[in-house]
Amino acid sequence: MKTMIEPFKIKMVESIRQTTEEERIEILEKADYNPFRIKAEDILIDFLTDSGTGAMSDRQWAAMMTGDEAYAGSKSFFRFEKAVQNITGFKHIIPTHQGRAAERILFSVAVKEGDMIPSNTHFDTTRANIEFNKAEAVDLVIPEGKIPTLEHPFKGNMDLKRLSGFLEKYHDNVPIGMITITNNSGGGQPVSMENIRETSKLLHKYGIPFFIDACRFAENAYFIKLREKGYRDKKVLEIAREMFSYADGCTMSAKKDAMVNIGGFLAMNDDTLAMNSRNLLILTEGFPSYGGLAGRDLDALAVGLEEVLQEDYLKYRLRTAAYMGERLTEAGIDIIRPTGGHAVYIDAKAFYPHIPASQFPGQVLCGELYRKGGIRGVEIGSVMFGKKDPETGSEIPAEMELVRLAFPRRAYTQSHFDFAIEAIIETYGERDRAKGLKITWEPPFLRHFTAKFTLAD
Ligand SMILES: *Cc1c(COP(=O)(O)O)cnc(C)c1O
Repeated sequence: MKTMIEPFKIKMVESIRQTTEEERIEILEKADYNPFRIKAEDILIDFLTDSGTGAMSDRQWAAMMTGDEAYAGSKSFFRFEKAVQNITGFKHIIPTHQGRAAERILFSVAVKEGDMIPSNTHFDTTRANIEFNKAEAVDLVIPEGKIPTLEHPFKGNMDLKRLSGFLEKYHDNVPIGMITITNNSGGGQPVSMENIRETSKLLHKYGIPFFIDACRFAENAYFIKLREKGYRDKKVLEIAREMFSYADGCTMSAKKDAMVNIGGFLAMNDDTLAMNSRNLLILTEGFPSYGGLAGRDLDALAVGLEEVLQEDYLKYRLRTAAYMGERLTEAGIDIIRPTGGHAVYIDAKAFYPHIPASQFPGQVLCGELYRKGGIRGVEIGSVMFGKKDPETGSEIPAEMELVRLAFPRRAYTQSHFDFAIEAIIETYGERDRAKGLKITWEPPFLRHFTAKFTLAD
C-alpha cells in the first residue's frame, strides 16, 4: 500500500473555528502582525510549536486516573522512574516541571563563572541558563548543518575535529559537554550514533561528563534506524538505549517526545551531582518524588515514553515532515533540507526576494500564511535573532530568515497538512503582493514574543 495512515483513530475532538480571509486580515492588523498576539481560537492550524501541544492517548488519560498524589514516594513517581530508567539506564531520575527547569538545576550545580559548555547547538533556553550562570555556551555543529539546502543524513552532528581542538585548549574549564538530539535550533536534524559515541569518547578522555539534551530522542533514534549502517534491524528502544549508554546524564522536556502537555526531567549517574540537584529541586520545584508535577502528570509521562517508541508512530511522524517538505520543494519553495523530525522550515528570504531583511521577510510570511490559511508559524530570523548596532542603533540582520512550521504530535491529520500545503503554495503564488513590515514597539529582551509591527512605507 502506498497510502500511509495516521496510526491512531480519534475518540475525542476539539473544534476549530473557521474564519474568512477578511476576518483574518482584521485580526492580524489588531494583533500588530505578530502571531504570538493572536488568540488561539482565531487560528485554524497551529504550527507555532510542537512543545506541549500534542494529543495524549486514551492510555495516557487512563493512566492519569491512577495518579497517586502522595507528597512523598508516590506510586506514580516509581512508575515514572521505571519508565525513564528502562530507556536511559541512568541511576538518578529527577522530575521537573519542564526542560528548562532541568537545565537551570544542572547548570546551577555544575557550572561556575568562566566555564564553557560545548554542544552541537544549544537550544535557546539551554544557552540562556548557561549564560545566566556566567558561563559560555559554545556551538560546534558540523559546517554542513548551517547550509540550509545541503543534503546530509546527520546534519545535527558535532564537529568532532573542532570539539577535539576545543577540548585540548579549554578542557580545564569544561565541567560538562552536551549534545542536542535532534538538533532543534539547527532544523530538527538528527545526530548519528557514531557521532554520539565519538563525542562521548572525546569528553571522557578528559574526564568530562557527557549530557544529552534528549527532548526528541525517539525521533533521533528512528532517524538512526533509517539512515545509519547497522541499525535497520534494531528496535528503536535498543537504539535509544545505546544512545544513552554513551552519556552520563540527560535533560529532557517531556513536552516533546514524552507526549505530555507539561513535564520534564533531569537524569544522571553521579551521586554527588544528583544530591546537589535534588537539594536545589526541593528549594525551587518540589520534593524529589514529584518535582513540580502532579502524580497524574508523572503517570501520563511514563505511558508517553512507551508510546513514542512505537515504530508505526515514528514512521508516520517523520514521514509527515518529509511529505510537506517534498510538496513544497516541488512547488519551487526553498526549505531547510532534508526535513528534520518535528518541523518544516521555509526560507523566507528566497520566498520574498523583494523584501529586505530590515523589513522582516519571515514575519511577513507568518502574517501572509495566517491571512491565506489561518496557519500560525513562527519567525526564526531577524525579529528573533537580529541585533541592534550599539552605536548607530541600526538593525543587524540574522544569518537566515526562516519560518518554522512545527507539528504538534498526533493532533492533525493528513488533510490538515494538505490544506496547509495548498495555502503555502497559494501564498507563494501571491508573493509579489506581500509588503515589508517595520517595528512600532518592542521590549528590551526576547522581542519576538511581544513586538508590534505595521506595514513598512
Ligand atoms: C523545548 C526544548 C528545551 C526546553 O524545554 P521546555 O520544556 O520548553 O522548558 C530544551 N532543549 C530543547 C532542544 C528543546 O527543544
